[in-house]
Amino acid sequence: MDEIILAYQGEMALKGLNRATFESILLKTMRRRLRSLGEFRVYKAQSTMYAEPVDDAAKASMDAAFERVSKIFGIAAVSRAAVCPKDFDVIAETALEYLHDELSTARTFKVSAKRSDKSFPMNSMEIGAELGGRILSRHPRLKVDVHHPELNVTVEVRDFAAYVHGGKKPGAGGLPVSTSGKAALMLSGGIDSPVAGYMMAKRGLSLICVHFASPPYTSERARRKVLKLAELLTPYTGNLNVYVVPYTKPQEYIRDHAPDVLFTVLMRRSMMRITNMICKKEGAEGIVTGESLAQVASQTLRALGCTDAAQELPVLRPCVGMDKTEITEIARRIGTFETSILPYEDCCTIFTPPHPKTKPSLEEIEAAEAAMPDLAALEAEAAAETPVEHINL
Ligand code: ATP
Ligand code: MG
Repeated sequence: MDEIILAYQGEMALKGLNRATFESILLKTMRRRLRSLGEFRVYKAQSTMYAEPVDDAAKASMDAAFERVSKIFGIAAVSRAAVCPKDFDVIAETALEYLHDELSTARTFKVSAKRSDKSFPMNSMEIGAELGGRILSRHPRLKVDVHHPELNVTVEVRDFAAYVHGGKKPGAGGLPVSTSGKAALMLSGGIDSPVAGYMMAKRGLSLICVHFASPPYTSERARRKVLKLAELLTPYTGNLNVYVVPYTKPQEYIRDHAPDVLFTVLMRRSMMRITNMICKKEGAEGIVTGESLAQVASQTLRALGCTDAAQELPVLRPCVGMDKTEITEIARRIGTFETSILPYEDCCTIFTPPHPKTKPSLEEIEAAEAAMPDLAALEAEAAAETPVEHINL
């Protein structure tokens, strides 16, 4: 039996983008995300996207393909359906066969029929009533429940064929990646920044990742962990480039030349400036972090203000109003949590003073930076020497 994946757009925010652009980005994304699983024909009709497996590899990987399409932002709902000719008897047999297991285990069901091909001789009501009758005669144990059925036998009579499935599943929602532009995600090995990346990709941002490593204070294992986190994000973001900044020298320089209590904010400003340089080079127009208000000393309103003032790109902090438990819940749902809690060191946790200042003033911060004349050159050097890792889905 031929199967296909249907992806429904739902309500899209089309501000600033017309529907055609939006849809063509979505189609391109679907093609790209499915490519490694086999040959799929991806096309659109009546605002619905179709992913049709063409070769054996694609047909054998429908589970994985469905999973991938379910994670593409911009898609409101998905279904995996059997394809059949537009003939009622064939549709009914297809439904009985394709949904046999579900029909055998469910206690209640209903039939939802949708006919967008108006030349089909039966209307939706008639399809529903007739198919419902045939299902009941084969599965007399089943009961009809139109309000809360366990199984929603769905028939869609469309342009090219009829499609039968057991009901739509929610899609990833949001906007297609890249429709909102490009930004740099400051990716640590922690719980928050992968979640921040996921949230902003959901709003249509295409991401690059910037990670600061300070060997030998931070280890190769810590670096690999971050690359693993990037890999775990790729089902949502698509392929990711991860810039691993060699940050040892600027960080040691700050440690050796600035007041202890200002160390953390000075370092965060320095990281922001380097990220800004990478953004300029890569055409990214914003910075995303996993900061959450008052979670730690460097995330007080005052400290965030000082960090923001280090460079001019907008800094997006989608976790800013969330509790750790809320962030953790998303991390678990998207599958980054278990990797995030591996206990490796991060450059943000080395050299930190026991009592960082929670309310630094921008004047004292700028004075401290003025006393570090070589910092700018060290930052420029780190940015220039940053290697890129390509993480593919
Ligand atoms: P996370 O769980 O994301 O690590 P956190 O609660 O541990 O966040 P911090 O360590 O203060 O908080 O980091 C705040 C933000 O700064 C992180 O969410 C991330 O965006 C960025 N950041 C921290 N360390 C690094 C790093 N080594 N490389 C890149 N960005 C970093
Ligand atoms: Mg951290």
